[in-house]
Amino acid sequence: MMEFKEYEKLLACVHCGLCLPFCPTYRIFGREQDSPRGRLYMIRSYAEGRIDMDEEFDEHINLCLVCRACESACPSNVKFGLIMEEARNLLEKNYKRGLKTKLYNWLIYREIWPNPSRLRFTFKLMRLLQRLMLDKIAKKVKLLDAFPGKPSRFLDMVPIIPDKFFNSGIFEPLGERRYKVGFLSGCIMGTLLSPINEATVRVLRANDCEVIVPDDQVCCGALNSHSGYLDTAKEMAKRNIDAFLKYDLDAIIVNSAGCGATMKEYKEILRDDEAYKDKAKDFSSKVKDLSEFLAQIPLNNNFGELKLRVTMQDPCHLIHGQKISIEPRKLLSMIPGIELEEMPFSDRCCGSAGNYFITHYDTSMQILDEKISYLKLTKAQAVIASNPPCYIQLKYGVKRSGLKMDVLHIAEVLDRAYKLGGVYQI
Ligand code: SF4
Ligand code: SF4
Repeated sequence: MMEFKEYEKLLACVHCGLCLPFCPTYRIFGREQDSPRGRLYMIRSYAEGRIDMDEEFDEHINLCLVCRACESACPSNVKFGLIMEEARNLLEKNYKRGLKTKLYNWLIYREIWPNPSRLRFTFKLMRLLQRLMLDKIAKKVKLLDAFPGKPSRFLDMVPIIPDKFFNSGIFEPLGERRYKVGFLSGCIMGTLLSPINEATVRVLRANDCEVIVPDDQVCCGALNSHSGYLDTAKEMAKRNIDAFLKYDLDAIIVNSAGCGATMKEYKEILRDDEAYKDKAKDFSSKVKDLSEFLAQIPLNNNFGELKLRVTMQDPCHLIHGQKISIEPRKLLSMIPGIELEEMPFSDRCCGSAGNYFITHYDTSMQILDEKISYLKLTKAQAVIASNPPCYIQLKYGVKRSGLKMDVLHIAEVLDRAYKLGGVYQI
């Protein structure tokens, strides 16, 4: 037997196969190894010492989007996400990769992502490239293609980087304080999508929240744990626990589905850490998605009329990772003028899956094309996608398909309706 911490969880799979039709990679490739059941079987075979972590193992394990649609479908409650994190962690430690890939992974997951100032510097550099239009040249000459995944293709997907990034601070409520909440700034939300963070804070303040954005917080660690850097993710989790728990908070609000799902699982990944296991439990119990929090409080309903026909994309880490789908719909139903038209398979992955659109570009685009075909069946003027990778991916999909549809985060919709209602002017 090999050491595999989540071994007991593997045994819950009874091989019924009910998850197979819900798995995007199984639908595309039709191979057992690219299904949840096949992947679990491979991981169990490794854990029992019957196979090695070889090239084939690496291929099938990394082709998974960790969308967790299989978790929602599974009658045995197999915790696929946690099992996959452990498998990728061991893969990264045991499987010999080329020097270039090793260096690239180390740089991204160990040196840049856990360090907010280096991360911001990287995005500032990208902003400069954008402003000088050098990103177009970099794409043309395939400057970044020396790196794994040929990231030059990704340059087209990067949104126009805002002039101002989102900063930490303490934001007073507009009315009398009813709640004291923390807010995760996030790696992508705080930089590439900073206007959404500004909108989120305005919406929370309009609901009598004092919003605390600690300056010593870091990225949630989702990208690191999904990419096999579980030890780094644990360090990041501890830093966030220390950053937030020093305030006496009613809730820790997250407006990114992927981050929320990860932070709700800090209690799992730190369960063997004597110094942090209780703090992690406390932290995770306070984490709330923005829509989850707003749907459970008496909401400020001074919305103006917002005439907009929308459809919903349920981000995988919201619907499968956190079982949240009713809450954003409830909020939309409270805004006068909003018409919700459901699209088929709104709970299917859009193909972004963290950095999957870089590491598995072709498969990601295939999944995106399917999503765009469902969006085309609606008459929506906007699709709501409240998770940064989905938001960016759908913007790209809409642009490249020529579809006339906006992509919005739920915070932007609420913010617009509050402005129309005269709650604030900004
Ligand atoms: S997480 Fe998603 S891609 Fe991975 S096995 Fe489950 S359903 Fe398939
Ligand atoms: S993961 Fe769940 S649904 Fe899929 S084969 Fe195993 S028990 Fe069945």
